[in-house]
Amino acid sequence: MSEERFDCIIVGAGPAGSAAALTLARAGLEVLVIERGLQAGSKNMTGGRLYAHALQKIIPNFWEEAPVERRVVKETITMITPSGSVSLDYKSQRYNQEPYHSFTVLRAQFDQWLATKAEEAGAVIATGVRVDDLLRDDQGKIIGVIAGEDQMLANVVIAADGVNSLLAQKAGLRGELKDIHVATGVKEVIELPRQVIEDRFQLTGEEGAAQLFVGRCTQGIQGGGFLYTNKNTISIGLVITSGAIGKSKIKIADLIEEFKTHPNIAPLVTGGKVVEYSAHLVPEGGLNMLPALYTDGLLIAGDAAGLVLNTGYMVRGMDLAIYSGIAAAQTVIKAKEKEDYSKTSLSHYQELLKNSFVMKDLETYKNAPAFMEQTTRIFTTYPQLADNILYKLFTVYGTPAQHLLPMVMGELKKNNISIFDLVKDGIKGVRAL
Ligand SMILES: Cc1cc2nc3c(=O)[nH]c(=O)nc-3n(C[C@H](O)[C@H](O)[C@H](O)COP(=O)(O)OP(=O)(O)OC[C@H]3O[C@@H](n4cnc5c(N)ncnc54)[C@H](O)[C@@H]3O)c2cc1C
Repeated sequence: MSEERFDCIIVGAGPAGSAAALTLARAGLEVLVIERGLQAGSKNMTGGRLYAHALQKIIPNFWEEAPVERRVVKETITMITPSGSVSLDYKSQRYNQEPYHSFTVLRAQFDQWLATKAEEAGAVIATGVRVDDLLRDDQGKIIGVIAGEDQMLANVVIAADGVNSLLAQKAGLRGELKDIHVATGVKEVIELPRQVIEDRFQLTGEEGAAQLFVGRCTQGIQGGGFLYTNKNTISIGLVITSGAIGKSKIKIADLIEEFKTHPNIAPLVTGGKVVEYSAHLVPEGGLNMLPALYTDGLLIAGDAAGLVLNTGYMVRGMDLAIYSGIAAAQTVIKAKEKEDYSKTSLSHYQELLKNSFVMKDLETYKNAPAFMEQTTRIFTTYPQLADNILYKLFTVYGTPAQHLLPMVMGELKKNNISIFDLVKDGIKGVRAL
C-alpha cells in the first residue's frame, strides 16, 4: 500500500471527475484522478451537445480555449415516418451572442482538454488504471481504492465512474443496473467537408445545428434519434430504452443503418465517411430512481449517480455531471476544513445539489420517464397522424377538398384515437415535460 494519503481520490476522468479534480486542485487539496482509459475521454461517448452554463462556473468563457466544435444556434425536432417527416425548426441569433448557450463537442478531445486543465491546477491524473474496489478499514469505513495490486489511501473517494458505476455498487448505494434504469445509445461520427456541412444545414462560421427525431427512426420503440453538426463531422445516433429494445427482435445496429437511409436523412449524410462508431448506456430513470448520493468517505457524481435528464426534446447529462463534480469537490473542501469525512458531514453534497438546477430540473421532469413509457403513441401513431394530416393539407389532386376539422377527425378515427385520448395524452405531456 502506498503511504501517501490523498485528500481525495476521484475515479473517472469524464466531465464529472475532471470538474471535481479542477475545483479541488485549485483549492490546494491533494487530488488523484484514476482513469481506466489510456487517455481521458478515450472510452467516453455522448450525443454531442454540451450546455455551457455549468462549465462556465469554473472556466469562464471556456469556448475561447476548449476544443468545442460548433455553437448551437439551430434546433429541430422531427417526427419521422417511413415516407416523410414533420419538423419544428427554431433558429435564434440570441444563441450567437456571448455567453454562448450550448456547443457540440467530441468527447475524446474535450475530456482530454478538461483533464489537462485539472492537471495544470495540480491534480495528479493516472490513466490506464482500472479501479477494482473500494478500500476499507477494519470498521468497514471507506479509506481509499484498490486497483490491481495497488491500494491507494484518501480521506474521501468521489466515484465519477459513469453509468455502470462499480463503486456505487461496491459501496452498497446502488444495486445492479436494470433495463428500466437505462437506455442504450449508439452513435456514428461521419466525416464531411466543412463547407458541405454548412451548406446542408444552412450554417455559417462557427454556427451549429442540433436535431432530435422521434418515430420511424426507432421503428416505434421508446427512444429517439439525434444529429449534431461538428466542424468537419456529423454525430448521428439513437438512444433507445434498453427494456424496450430487449423485448423486440430489432437490433440497434440495424436501426441506425436504416435511419441513415431515410429519404430525409440520407441527403444530409451522403458522401460522408464513418470515422467513429460507439455504443454506451444512458441513465434514464430520472429523479425517482436516484440512488443515495453519499456515505461515509464516498460521494458519487454524474452518470454514476444517475444525474441525466431525457425529456425527449433534450438530452442533458454533461452539465449535470460537471455541476455535480463541482458540488462534490466543494463538499470535500468543507469536510477537510472540519476534518470530518463522515456521512453527516458529506450530506452537504445533497444540500448543494438540492439548491441547484440539478435537483430542481430533475424534480420538474420527474414524470417524463413514466410519461414516455406509458404514452407509446408518441413513438408510433402520432408521427404518422401528423404526416397524414399535413399530406392532406398540402396535397391537391382535383378531388373535393375538406375543411380542416372533419379532415383531422377522420384521420383520428382511422388511427383509432379518440379526442379523449388526444386531450389526455396532451395534458399528461404538458404536465410531464
Ligand atoms: C448516446 C448518448 C447521447 C448523449 N447525448 C448527450 C448530449 O447531447 N448532451 C449531454 O449533456 N449529455 C448527453 N449524454 C449523457 C452524457 O454523455 C453523460 O451524462 C456524461 O458523459 C456523464 O459524464 P460522467 O463524467 O458522469 O461519466 P462518463 O463520461 O461516463 O465518465 C466516466 C469515466 O470513468 C471511467 N471509469 C469507469 N469505471 C472506471 C474504473 N473502474 N476505474 C477507472 N476509471 C473508470 C471511464 O473510463 C470514464 O472516463 C448522452 C449519452 C449517450 C450515451
